[in-house]
Amino acid sequence: MRALSQREVEDIMSSLSEDQRSYIIKHTKQSKKSKWIETLAKKKGIVLSENMSLEVVEDKLDEWMLVDVLDGGYGNRPYECECGKSLRFQYIVYHKGDDKTYKLGETCFEHYTDLQPEVLKDILKGFHHVDLERDEILLKLKQKRYPDLTKYLVIDSIPAELKKQIQLLIPLSNSQLGNIQHLMNEHDLQIKRNEVYKGLTSQQLLVFNSLDSKEKVEVLTTISNRTGYLVDKEDAEMIGDPGIIQFASVHLPLLKRHIKIFKKFVEELERKEWEDAKERARAVDYATLIENHKYHFKKLLELENVMSPGLRQECEEMKQSIKSIKNGGTIDYESFSVILNNLLTALKI
Ligand SMILES: [Zn+2]
Repeated sequence: MRALSQREVEDIMSSLSEDQRSYIIKHTKQSKKSKWIETLAKKKGIVLSENMSLEVVEDKLDEWMLVDVLDGGYGNRPYECECGKSLRFQYIVYHKGDDKTYKLGETCFEHYTDLQPEVLKDILKGFHHVDLERDEILLKLKQKRYPDLTKYLVIDSIPAELKKQIQLLIPLSNSQLGNIQHLMNEHDLQIKRNEVYKGLTSQQLLVFNSLDSKEKVEVLTTISNRTGYLVDKEDAEMIGDPGIIQFASVHLPLLKRHIKIFKKFVEELERKEWEDAKERARAVDYATLIENHKYHFKKLLELENVMSPGLRQECEEMKQSIKSIKNGGTIDYESFSVILNNLLTALKI
């Protein structure tokens, strides 16, 4: 963001309505005064809080109060210091003790007020930022590059000052926008939630009204964002949680606390299924065993005489297993399959 020349500022200012112009002038002066107070308060170690008015803070500060800062514009020296020097910038300060107002240039300003040069530098830097923000606003006005925010005037929490700016159709600076963006977002969400609320059926309302305010917002937001998780009645009954059944029966998306229960249920189900599958793999009956491995067993019997003693030993153990299952016993089918596979691989079957 570049600073506008005094000429540009005047050009744009003259194209504005009287109300817009006087708002910008007043707002700029006020912002500079706040910067002045903020900087001096910081220097004195006074911590500013939101509910502390600037007037109260000013009372606690130096004897000196800033009334105005005038800028004659680049290359111009239309103002005069108390010492007679012609000035571009003129600082108008009021001394409480003397009840006197002085019009000063930078050098005399330092002498009169006895402020350290660093403090003065900070103050001037603050003023510069205020001017830059004003220029940003003027440039937006000139380029007509800003949205109409008047629909947000209904938001109570937007500061009165900014409301006035919006009302006068003066664009907000990016930093002002940043400050109230979340308020505007929340406002838009609220409108969407209201629409969703109007669309609820009487049955849904019965369930909805039984929730606390936080969960009410949760339901409306989920429906509005279409990120909700709906379950049908059969699934809900299988899960068995009364809350989930209630929500499913009126077609409301599940709350976070329901989804937790739901996920736990699915995990438990998967665990059981896995255990069952493992159990099935273990328990095998004689007929299935023969049916599955008829060919393998036949080959093994054929090769029994040419096997190494180690393999023959394993083969013998397998025979015992088969015999035991034939007599109604159970075997660990998993380890049986491992041994069988080892034998088949070793014998290249
Ligand atoms: Zn002077």
